[in-house]
Amino acid sequence: MIVVLSLQAGRENAVSLMEQFRFGDRAAVVPHGHERLLVILSDEIDEEKIMALEAHPLVDRVIPIETPYQLVSKHHQPEKTIVKVGDVHIGGADLVVIAGPCAVEGEEQLKKTALAIKKAGASILRGGAFKPRTSPYSFQGLKTEGLAVLARVKEEVGLPAVSEVMDPREVDDAAIYLDLIQIGARNMSNTPLLQEVGRQKRPVLLKRNPAATYEEWLLAAEYIAAEGNTQIILCERGLRTFEPYTRNTLDVGAVPALKEMTHLPVLVDPSHGTGRWHMVPDLSKAALAAGADGLMIEVHCDPERALSDGRQSLHPDRFSRLMEQLRKLKQTLEQIK
Ligand code: PEP
Ligand code: MN
Repeated sequence: MIVVLSLQAGRENAVSLMEQFRFGDRAAVVPHGHERLLVILSDEIDEEKIMALEAHPLVDRVIPIETPYQLVSKHHQPEKTIVKVGDVHIGGADLVVIAGPCAVEGEEQLKKTALAIKKAGASILRGGAFKPRTSPYSFQGLKTEGLAVLARVKEEVGLPAVSEVMDPREVDDAAIYLDLIQIGARNMSNTPLLQEVGRQKRPVLLKRNPAATYEEWLLAAEYIAAEGNTQIILCERGLRTFEPYTRNTLDVGAVPALKEMTHLPVLVDPSHGTGRWHMVPDLSKAALAAGADGLMIEVHCDPERALSDGRQSLHPDRFSRLMEQLRKLKQTLEQIK
């Protein structure tokens, strides 16, 4: 249940209201936009208390919400959230493609790729600096130096940039370099990290853990929103299944499902979703046809020599061809809507 407080209600008033109603730990006061506060209640509240709340002078209205995720639910906000990353709007009419190498390997490598993906029509540059690798003996990323390289290249090329953070202590520094902060699949349930990105001002790209249900994923987004940051983009990136041919099994069905559940934009990452570059074009088209607000695609100028995920990275020529096909597909989908 969401209790929308009146404009003049400050935090102290909100806390005393919770005490008056004896909500204890079952309620949280969360910021909403610039001026308003909300009280979120996770438990069922009896009718009498709801009526008393509705009649309270500090309360504007009470919105009953039946799902455990509340701020990110469509019930709370039926209109779609448009997330702004630099000048790029995600969740609106534009097809947004985030592209770039799995990892920042150096300035020359990144710049070459950035120029190529921009020319092909991508709107956001990706490049991992803190790499969550499966093996401790694999390349772990250039870390803060990688973020600095990304920041220089994005300025030179003129694209906003996204990169992953793994540690709450890295968030504030990373936010200086980046336009969009990524929470990777492995950290989807790292609640201190989610809360930390919820307290800063940059938008957040939240990837789905390969074993998470839609509800668990939306509750992870709720952790970010509950700290005041509702500029959140969800990204499907494949599930762990019994199929060994692919690295993960891409759940394209997540897109229409999530559209019913949440107002947040949904992207699809067919690179990690398959682990094989030759499957990326077809699954990019499938994701777009399923209603995705955009895609995240790994691109490398020399995939065979990439320090991570070369097997799933598209060469810029192939990426450019795919972008052309996606533009045509988008037009066709608009015509048959
Ligand atoms: C990535 O996008 O760089 C990444 C590591 O993806 P995921 O968290 O989905 O595995
Ligand atoms: Mn990768």
